Formats: sequence, C-alpha cells, structure tokens
Amino acid sequence: MENLEIYDVVIIGSGPSGLSASIYAERAKLKSITIEKQYMSGGQVLNTYEVDNYPGLPEINGFDMGQKFRQHAEKLGSQFVKDEVLELDITDKIKTIKCKKNTFKARTVIIATGAQHRMLEVPGEKELYGKGVSYCATCDGAFYKEKIVAVVGGGDVALEDAIFLSRICKKIYLIHRRDEFRGAKILQEKVFSIDNIEVIWDTVVDKIEGDKEVTGITTTNRKTNETKTYNIDGVFVAIGIVPNSHIFERHLNLDDSNYIIANEDCKTSVDGVFVAGDVRTKALRQVVTAVSDGANAITSVEKYLATEF
Ligand code: NAP
Repeated sequence: MENLEIYDVVIIGSGPSGLSASIYAERAKLKSITIEKQYMSGGQVLNTYEVDNYPGLPEINGFDMGQKFRQHAEKLGSQFVKDEVLELDITDKIKTIKCKKNTFKARTVIIATGAQHRMLEVPGEKELYGKGVSYCATCDGAFYKEKIVAVVGGGDVALEDAIFLSRICKKIYLIHRRDEFRGAKILQEKVFSIDNIEVIWDTVVDKIEGDKEVTGITTTNRKTNETKTYNIDGVFVAIGIVPNSHIFERHLNLDDSNYIIANEDCKTSVDGVFVAGDVRTKALRQVVTAVSDGANAITSVEKYLATEF
C-alpha cells in the first residue's frame, strides 16, 4: 500500500540506534516513521542476558533495555510500522522505500539495520540449526539444563554466553581459535573463576556431529594439529557479527566487510541517506555508540533538511 505522506525521515530498524534516532526525531519535531522487521524492538541487545556498561543502567537485562528505549520513543510520540524493506530508490531528492506491505516516501532515510551473527560454515551447522546448534544462549540456554555444551568464540558475546550457561549447564567447553580472548577483561576474569567452564585454546571447530540432533563436535588444535571429538548436547556459536547491509550494496559505498561507510556525522555516499549503529563503519560497536549514532544522524538530517528543502 502506498503511503502518500512524505516523511522528513524514515528510519529503518529499531535497535538502539534506530530507537535513539526516533527519540531525537520527535524532539526535533520531524515527521518520522520507524520501520521494524522483528516482532520486538531492541535488535541484538534483546539476546543479551545482561548489559553492564551502559551508564545509569547497571546490570540491566537486554530485553528490559530494548523495552525501555522503545517506551521512551513511544512516550514522545514516535510512529512505528512492522514491515520489511525490500528495495530503495534513493536517486531522487524524495526517496522511495519499498517494503513488503507498504511503500514510504521521505526527504531523508536513516539506515539502522544493525548486524546479525556470523556462521561457522562447517558441516553440520546448517543441518543441525535448532537441533542443538544455536546463536543465542539467552534464548535457548534453558533447553540445556544439566547438559554439556560448547561455546565457540573469544569476544564479549562468547564470554557472556559461557558465564550465562554455566548457571544452567553441567559443563561448558569454551572453544577459541587463539590463545587469548578478545572480550573485556572483567568477563575474562569471571570466566576463569567458574569451575564448570573449560577453555580450549588455539582450537577450531571442523564439524558438528549428529544425525537428528547434535551429539558432538570435531576440532583441530591449530598449534599441534591434534584433532579431537567432544561429546556435547549443544553448541552455541558466538563468533561475531556481519552487517545487515545487503539491500543497500547497490546504492551506497561499503567497506570490504560490507559495513556502510560513514563518519560520525553518519552521512553515506548518497545525499539525504544516513547510517547509524552497528551497520556503519566504526571502531567500537556497543549500545552506547549505537545510541550516539542515532543522535548524530538526526542532527545531520536536520542540517540537510535546512539546506536542501
Ligand atoms: P567479536 O568481538 O567480533 O568477537 C568474535 C570472536 O569470534 C573473536 O574472538 C574471533 O576470534 C572469533 N571468531 C571470528 N570468526 C571466527 C571463526 N570463523 N571461527 C572461530 N572463531 C571466530 O564479536 P562478538 O563477541 O559477537 O561481539 C560483537 C560486538 O558487540 C563487539 O563489538 C562487542 O564488543 C560488542 N558487544 C558488547 C557487549 C557489551 O559491551 N556488554 C556485549 C556483547 C557484545 P579472534 O579473537 O581470533 O578474532
């Protein structure tokens, strides 16, 4: 259905950066709408058991954080629509955003589509997805009460997942491809202090074993070349993220890892199109940097509207 209204800004995505942009848009009295694909706002933070580095909200659970951001936007009058963007026409001054159900027109667009989990791409991963292979410990952890699981990765998410699962599972093998973690020191200390987490260094997963469900993983130690099979009931893959930029790659400049190129002003290679949050090229991807992008993007939108319209 074509929406005949011309918005000042259409925001694509309702994670922390999109919600922050919609809050700033309301306060700037811009006519905005935020398109959200998922059934709930919050983006990746929804899958986080605990966020403990966002100022003022210590130890908040990711779900509550998403809800709080959303409620704040709603309180200010932000408009939301559940839909999925399929294609953009951003060559003209008035941009067209074609979605599954609606078509929107806007003077500016903010892309805040975030990122999603990276896959291991080993045999068994796709076949056993949902049958022991998971990318979300907080969503699926409860199914592994008193079971043996592996967590793969060495960043914040892998460490947080291992800590979270240690309270539910009998044993966790934390498998990392190097001999030091990338994740925060405070999380590392916690991991090392938990008895039922065993860290397996310098090791990659070659195959996820199982027929109807996961029964094990086969690994190789990169230093010794030794291969080993671990009998496990589940594997949680936490090896980083890939940007949700696919539908924009024909229109905008992306870097080698497919992040949309923009500086802190959030301006992309196309006038009137801005990018905020994890899908943007940046040094640090955290909730706190995502919400600051939302604010910066709206400031850039205001400047653009003032000069171009
Ligand atoms: P990440 O920081 O990029 O870490 C990914 C980990 O997976 C790295 O240890 C990496 O190994 C490993 N890895 C990557 N590809 C692999 C492969 N093919 N096979 C095996 N291992 C592989 O990702 P993340 O932990 O998902 O975190 C994503 C972003 O969210 C980060 O910026 C993180 O700081 C942020 N985050 C923040 C918080 C928080 O502040 N509370 C919580 C969660 C996430 P190498 O170390 O060898 O590269």
